[in-house]
Formats: sequence, C-alpha cells, structure tokens
Amino acid sequence: MRYVDGAYNLASGTRDAFGGLSAQLVREGHPDMVSISGDRDPEVQLRLWYERMTLNPGGRKVYGTMWWNGQKWYRIHPDLVGAPGSSDHELRRSNDLAWPYNSNTAAHRRAQQLAPQFGIVCDGKGFSSPEWWHWTNRGSLGTIGAPAAAGGSTARPTPVQEDDMATLISSPGGKSLVVGDRLFGFTDPTEAAAVSGAQTLNVPVTLHARINDNFGRTAPNGALPTIVYVRGGGDGTVYLWTQGKLEALVDPSTLAELHGKNAPTFTLSQAEVDNLLEP
Ligand SMILES: [Zn+2]
Repeated sequence: MRYVDGAYNLASGTRDAFGGLSAQLVREGHPDMVSISGDRDPEVQLRLWYERMTLNPGGRKVYGTMWWNGQKWYRIHPDLVGAPGSSDHELRRSNDLAWPYNSNTAAHRRAQQLAPQFGIVCDGKGFSSPEWWHWTNRGSLGTIGAPAAAGGSTARPTPVQEDDMATLISSPGGKSLVVGDRLFGFTDPTEAAAVSGAQTLNVPVTLHARINDNFGRTAPNGALPTIVYVRGGGDGTVYLWTQGKLEALVDPSTLAELHGKNAPTFTLSQAEVDNLLEP
C-alpha cells in the first residue's frame, strides 16, 4: 500500500487493513494499492462541503440534495460529499484508490473477493452514482497517530518529478531543495550536487534561514478541535468545530492553549457560521 504525497491514514487499524489487503494482492501478481485520498481532517471536510453544497443554488445546475443540520442543501458539484462529521474519510476509515482499484478491472474484482478477510468493503460501488475508487475499513480503527518514520532516518531529497516545481535554494550557509510544498535539507554536499532539473535561487544567509523556518512549521494537529474564525471578524466571536458541532469559544485561555498546541484553523463567512450553529 502506498500513499501519494499528501494522502495518509492516521488510524493504525485502517493502515493495517489496507496494507494487508494490498500485500495479498501483490503476492497474487496484482499491483500495489495506491491511496490518492485517505483521511480528511474536519476543516477539509467542511471546506469540501461548502464548495459542493449550498442552501441557495440560484441558477446553478443542481446534481442532488441532502439534508444536514435540519436544512435541505443543494449539490452544485458533480461529486458527492459526506456531511461534515459523518464522512468515512473524516472518520479515518476510507481511501480513494488509484487505477486499477478505481474501476471494473480484474484486480478490482479480486480485491473485492479478498477485502472481507481484512474488514474492508468497496462501499463506493453501491453509491447512487458509483465511486469504484472508494474503499472503507469497517474493522477496528486501532490507535490514531502518525506512522513511525521508517528506519529512523530524517527526510531525504525525493526524486524530482517533471510536474513538480523544484527549486534549489542556495546561500553561503548551504543548500536546501523545495519540491512542491516541502523542503528538504541535505546532510552532505554531494547530495545537493546530485540534484538535477531544479532551478537555482541564490539568496543571502538570512533569507535562507527564514525560508527554512517557514517550511519547518509543523502541520496542524488534527487530533484537536478546529478553531473557526469568521471572515472579516464578525462580531468578534471565535468558534470551535468539534465532533461535527460548532460552538462559540467563551474562555480566551482555551484559544491560547489550542494555538499553543497548533490546533488547525479555518475561516467561514458569518452566514456559514449561522447555518452551522444549533437553532
Ligand atoms: Zn472517497
């Protein structure tokens, strides 16, 4: 089982289930499973919902409707989206898989036969508009946490792909490589010399340090509630999005504490916040 850049499963049960199924398929001569989209953190699910669903479709094409939060929502996007707090991606159970596990192929049919042994179903097949790529772990979730780094090694430069914008940052202090939204340091000058196809950016040492700092900030801690701000500030209230519910945050020390722990943040319009609040 492999994950494209940016895709991940934080639940050990989901990783193990897909890993076991994929390994069995490989033993039988089928390709490894590749996840294009695994877990979706709550703020991502919320953003997807507002991209694809609206209370007021106006003249836009409507692909379907869903009830959520006591209201009827109109889907203005061809792809389905689970209601926030209910999607199996948000529950850390699902993966959207690449070919050949995304359509009616021999590998897909064999995977469906083997899947129950690993607690997995291709439930996407049964959607009203079928999504053959959507597979779900119905077994144990195990523990939630990032997988251990393989071999304890630090990040190494990855091979540069043609469609990635690669930039070699060079200063008298050293070199680092930026590929997409990731930065890699070098442990040895020969590694930097081996990079080909990247454009080189020569910068002063101070700017180089600032660039490294910016990339060094850790990813939001998805295990914490999401801090929701109102676009433009609203009436000054800050909200917390937790387990599918939005609540006003009353204690300012809670906000400081969540920021300190690097909780994810998200911004909504006042109208969107009003829709999410309990009536
Ligand atoms: Zn899916």
